[in-house]
Amino acid sequence: LPTVMIVGRPNVGKSALFNRLIRRREALVYNTPDDHVTRDIREGIAKLGDLRFRVLDSAGLETAASSGSILDRTADLTGSVLARTQFAIFLIDVRAGLQPLDVEVGNWLRKNASGVRTILAMNKSESLDDGGGLLIAEAAEAHVLGFGDPIAISAETGLGMAELYETLCPLLEDYMLQQMNDQTIEEEKAVETEENKLPLQLAIVGRPNVGKSTLLNTLLREKRVLVGPEAGLTRDSVRAQFNFEGRTIYLVDTAGWLQRCGQEKGPASLSVMQSRKNLMRANVVALVLDAEEIANKRCSMKHAEVAIARQAVEEGRGLVVIVNKMDLLRGKQNMVLHDRVIDAVPKEIRAVIPQVTGVPVVFVSALEGEGRIPLLDQIVDTYEKWCLRLPTARLNRWLRKVMSRHSWKDQATKPKIKYFTQVKARPPTFVAFKNGDTQLSDSYVRFLTKSLVEDFNLGGIPIRLMQRTVP
Ligand code: GDP
Repeated sequence: LPTVMIVGRPNVGKSALFNRLIRRREALVYNTPDDHVTRDIREGIAKLGDLRFRVLDSAGLETAASSGSILDRTADLTGSVLARTQFAIFLIDVRAGLQPLDVEVGNWLRKNASGVRTILAMNKSESLDDGGGLLIAEAAEAHVLGFGDPIAISAETGLGMAELYETLCPLLEDYMLQQMNDQTIEEEKAVETEENKLPLQLAIVGRPNVGKSTLLNTLLREKRVLVGPEAGLTRDSVRAQFNFEGRTIYLVDTAGWLQRCGQEKGPASLSVMQSRKNLMRANVVALVLDAEEIANKRCSMKHAEVAIARQAVEEGRGLVVIVNKMDLLRGKQNMVLHDRVIDAVPKEIRAVIPQVTGVPVVFVSALEGEGRIPLLDQIVDTYEKWCLRLPTARLNRWLRKVMSRHSWKDQATKPKIKYFTQVKARPPTFVAFKNGDTQLSDSYVRFLTKSLVEDFNLGGIPIRLMQRTVP
């Protein structure tokens, strides 16, 4: 929480304001031993509208001080107290008028607390009920202190608390955002170095005979997997790991899956792959389709393939679709079929998995080793996006832009998102902090998700968006 200290010469009403801000909540009194004299500073959690902050009342320092000079007394504020204070409310007494001591306090603040953002407030303003003329005169006078326009308040009656809120709110929010950002940058650095050491876990999935084993060989560049025309011929255990451009890629449970495929032929074998456990171990799921089959049929994805893709996405895995056997669609006579496949697959994926935008589709020939590099590039790219961490400051600049992009028929229904932050990577998970308890509409959540994917180039990544109410 940000800390606001109430400062001012004696008797301006510091404790009264402190009490009003903390209301009935507990105040913590702690001592600052100094030259064998113990001085009290009260600390409490202030509530002003929906704002929460830590507030310090420095009044105790005065009563304990033996010296008559304000400088001696305020000097006690240095050290531990000032170091943890970001904001100050500099209080003056409008009934007593501006005093030399006020000027002294102002000079002291400028000299010793230059990093503390100070708001000037004229207390006891309820006493000047002449329609505002006197207040304006007092405010003009207070300008000599050099802390800008004062706010007219009354700690006794509560006058001006709304204005105090309006002034503090943007300052405190900016501060909290900055804090959050600094914190996430620190955490990001630590986590990113950790994550970079992790190998990419890749699952190659698909129906029997689409060419998974052949693709595996192509990727591994060595014949370790048995390939044959019969479905599910592959039985030997494959625990494959290889390097691509300095990155370790580990093939997840492909062997086990291929083995089980051999035991039960046809789409039924896919249920094995549908076990959540297997998919959960992969970071990226590569779903292999057969180009020749697609060319001869109306739709490119069979029920089981759609089920795998959906499950991968639901489990938060990155998804890449591979269309294999493109070599069979070469030549002039196949041009129409070839183009139809290239056109149809991305369209169909958009239709069956609408929750993930921009799933990458790579066209290869595993048999001829064609498309190996573009495919691996796409897999690594998907993995990196899956691990992406966006700094809070950047996300909030984006949020402001994107909220103005969306047009609202009815301004009253316009959602008020205060800020946006990424709480997790692998896959990227975001939280939108909003005012009030009403949930963001589904269509607005879809709009935000789609904008995130487009603006940060997150195609194929099942990003998650949660919402919370600002505390
Ligand atoms: P799996 O069951 O998915 O592992 O499929 P396999 O890798 O065993 O391949 C099944 C059959 O398709 C084999 O006869 C392969 O030679 C053939 N095949 C695999 N990839 C290609 C390809 O890119 N082009 C062609 N023409 N045939 C392929």
